[in-house]
Amino acid sequence: MELILTKNFNKKDSHKLETYESCGGYSAVMKCLKTMRPEDVTSEVIKSGLRGRGGAGFPTGKKWSFVPKESLVSKYLAVNGDEGEPGTFKDRRIIEKDPHMLLEGIMIACYAVGINTAFVYIRGEYHKALKIIEEAIDECYSKNYLGSKIFNSDFNLDIHAHSGAGAYICGEETGLIESLEGHRGQPRLKPPFPAVSGLFMGPTVINNVETLATVPEIINKGADWYASIGTPNNSGTRLYGISGNVEKPGCYELPLGTTLRKLIFDAAGGIKNGKKFKAAIPGGLSSPIITSEELDTPMDFDSLAKIGSMAGSGGVIVIDEDQSIPKIAARTADFYAHESCGQCTQCREGTRWVSLLFNKICEGRAKRSDIDLILDICSNMMGQTICVLSDACAMPSMAYIKKFRGEFEQLCQK
Ligand code: SF4
Repeated sequence: MELILTKNFNKKDSHKLETYESCGGYSAVMKCLKTMRPEDVTSEVIKSGLRGRGGAGFPTGKKWSFVPKESLVSKYLAVNGDEGEPGTFKDRRIIEKDPHMLLEGIMIACYAVGINTAFVYIRGEYHKALKIIEEAIDECYSKNYLGSKIFNSDFNLDIHAHSGAGAYICGEETGLIESLEGHRGQPRLKPPFPAVSGLFMGPTVINNVETLATVPEIINKGADWYASIGTPNNSGTRLYGISGNVEKPGCYELPLGTTLRKLIFDAAGGIKNGKKFKAAIPGGLSSPIITSEELDTPMDFDSLAKIGSMAGSGGVIVIDEDQSIPKIAARTADFYAHESCGQCTQCREGTRWVSLLFNKICEGRAKRSDIDLILDICSNMMGQTICVLSDACAMPSMAYIKKFRGEFEQLCQK
């Protein structure tokens, strides 16, 4: 299989500009600046079928097309490298291993949308990644790949790296915008959507790191080539991050639509210590759990949605036969209760009650009726809040109970 995102990862000094250029780096942005109109770049990305790799899977080119061409105020690109979803660590790998591929993707996106300022928002704990991207940005300025009239064109672009504020909710796009503006990272009510009024009230595109890092190769090799990889409506490759009870945890680049079975047993070496597979969380902690009967599900956006889960951030957490699902459920709810920003009652109260009840079950103090109480609370947490953190707690909580109810009942008093 032809690698896109990880093709330079094993090269010596892969993070350096010299290495990136020796592999043909920055030819895509030069092609755009010299031979393509901005709208042609957007059309090419739309045609490629590239969908956002941050979680929602929204078509990238379409997102760019929502930003008005003419604007009285400055437009911005905010790159989401906050990566706070438990089980997700692929953006960190891209930034640390090939920051110039990301920077080239940012340049192309900015040219396509008519943006002259971009911010790379990096998770606060990613100190190494921040240092690497800052050095890569400096390298670009020193060669006039950033600044005024980049690559001797008429296009100006500045890119700034920004360290995140250390909260999960800063990865939500409007929370990220608030945080970038120097405020507490609390999601905003929508509309207006960021494409209309986002950062500093200007039209703003927010794209994930992996999404943008994919763009240069689409420009180099064409939309048709990219669309031929993966499954219909789910084109390209993705960087799956596998953790949990597997022999070889790590990041693996595979075509979208690779089955969970292949991912675990071929790429990641199977279940650790010869244990049996029990379940997996397929796309970061907020994605509903899937069981051994669903091992042959293609790991793409549409197939996972069809079975009631989601591809999310591509972070796969593998669970073996020895693990307790109620304990995982309690830990999941603890996390969301801790990370709720508190603006919405359903989320602020709901996450805490779900956490409290799951822990009560694990400690053997609950009644069976408490299981249904959790389901009732969860159903009131869905689709009613400013952002989806509330749903992100409710969805997996309901799936743990639906698929492993017996384990919860065993821990309850009759
Ligand atoms: Fe904050 Fe939760 Fe409301 Fe999101 S859903 S805005 S995290 S309270």
